[in-house]
Amino acid sequence: MILGAGPTGLGAAWRLAERGHDNWTLYEAAPQAGGLASTVMDAHGFLWDLGGHVLFSHYTYFDDVANHALGDAWVEHVREAWVWMRERWIPYPFQNNIRRLPEDELKACVDGLKALQNGGGAPPKTFRDWLLGSFGQGICDSFLFPYNRKVWAYDPSALNVEWMGERVATVDLQRILDNIALERDDVGWGPNNTFRFPLRGGTGAIWKGVQQLLPKAKLHFNRSIARINTNQRALETTDGQRTAYDALISTMPLDRLLAIIDGPEELKALAPRFVHSSSHIIGIGLKGTPPADLATKCWIYFPEPEYPFYRVTVFSNYSPNNAPAGHWSLMAEVSESPEKPVDIRTVVDAVVAGFERCGFIDRSNVVSRWHRRLEHGYPTPWFGRDAVLDQAQHALQLSGIYSRGRFGAWKYEVSNQDHSLMQGVEAVERILDGARERTFNGEMTSVLTHARSISSR
Ligand SMILES: Cc1cc2nc3c(=O)[nH]c(=O)nc-3n(C[C@H](O)[C@H](O)[C@H](O)COP(=O)(O)OP(=O)(O)OC[C@H]3O[C@@H](n4cnc5c(N)ncnc54)[C@H](O)[C@@H]3O)c2cc1C
Repeated sequence: MILGAGPTGLGAAWRLAERGHDNWTLYEAAPQAGGLASTVMDAHGFLWDLGGHVLFSHYTYFDDVANHALGDAWVEHVREAWVWMRERWIPYPFQNNIRRLPEDELKACVDGLKALQNGGGAPPKTFRDWLLGSFGQGICDSFLFPYNRKVWAYDPSALNVEWMGERVATVDLQRILDNIALERDDVGWGPNNTFRFPLRGGTGAIWKGVQQLLPKAKLHFNRSIARINTNQRALETTDGQRTAYDALISTMPLDRLLAIIDGPEELKALAPRFVHSSSHIIGIGLKGTPPADLATKCWIYFPEPEYPFYRVTVFSNYSPNNAPAGHWSLMAEVSESPEKPVDIRTVVDAVVAGFERCGFIDRSNVVSRWHRRLEHGYPTPWFGRDAVLDQAQHALQLSGIYSRGRFGAWKYEVSNQDHSLMQGVEAVERILDGARERTFNGEMTSVLTHARSISSR
């Protein structure tokens, strides 16, 4: 049994179909597949992904599934990312391009980097410690602290470092000093730094395509699961239908899953301990063409608190079909948490005002304003996360439940579309063959390489 038709649930379904396994069913609450990776068309014909989705695949298997779904209907892009702050453009990665900062700020960044050369210091306990120990006080004060506060909607001191694994920051002091001396931009994009995007239908087209290839009779949409009886291994939908399962791959948010199972009280009591942030996605559709400054940019980071958004995507640059002819579009992401509330009545106006303030738009050209709030946006890697996750997953597994995917596993480090699809695929391998789930366990590689085509029945 599969619960959810986002990338994780579809990955599980694909693998079952590929292996010729016949005895499975998928339930999805929404009328169509895609989950958080869906695309919406607004009343004015603009397409909007639910946040800036960039495909950066770690798996050939994932690429194969996406190719089966879309064929060659892709647009290839160079990943051109920038930071907008102090009323100027700074190429990404920020640390390599601090020469573009005002002089006093540049000096503080360099002093901070030089102080790091003395080494030492205790191992980092929080994400804040890790940032400070990797980039120095100046870069943290200018960019990393304010930016991370905005994107996570929590202070970096509330986040753990376990999710970072063995990740080491790339700071090359000599190169940074050379960039300053030679007045050289050191951009993170180039011929090897590309991504692809669906030519038509936005990111959601991939998942609609996968849905089309799966056996229709096994996919049940508009069916929301309301209760799970773990003793009897049975699910109940909101309209009261009961179905038994022997193994269940659940991709709904883990806190909600814990709340609907008839499990032991100590397991249900874990639900309120999960920390997440919500995402507001705001799409602004405009007449005409983007200004020259935005003509080739993919996305822009905004660390300053006076702008409500942490990231803006020039969404019409991803595909000519993302906006009607003669129009272009910008998509902003605004995070929300109990520590960073957002006024839902004014947030769209604040975004338009922010775009105007940095000279991106003239509001007389706005023809469409689109807004969607996602309750579960980012699975926060909160301090103490892994102990809670282990306890929940262990107990669920005793009842034949495998909670996987972005909010099913609640591991930000493996929560993109490629990781999610592979979590679904690998959960099937685990259930059928006892194979180790490498992605779910943070190993980020897969023993499975190529996906075979499947035929719809
Ligand atoms: C703001 C934002 C930016 C992102 N950027 C990127 C990016 O740049 N690159 C990238 O690769 N990924 C990105 N992602 C992540 C991507 O969206 C996820 O990897 C992917 O959607 C996770 O798939 P999933 O199947 O695990 O979960 P979901 O997509 O959440 O799917 C879960 C499904 O379960 C269904 N469901 C829930 N409860 C029930 C119930 N009770 N009964 C039945 N069905 C239920 C839901 O309707 C949903 O369809 C981003 C996500 C967000 C929110």
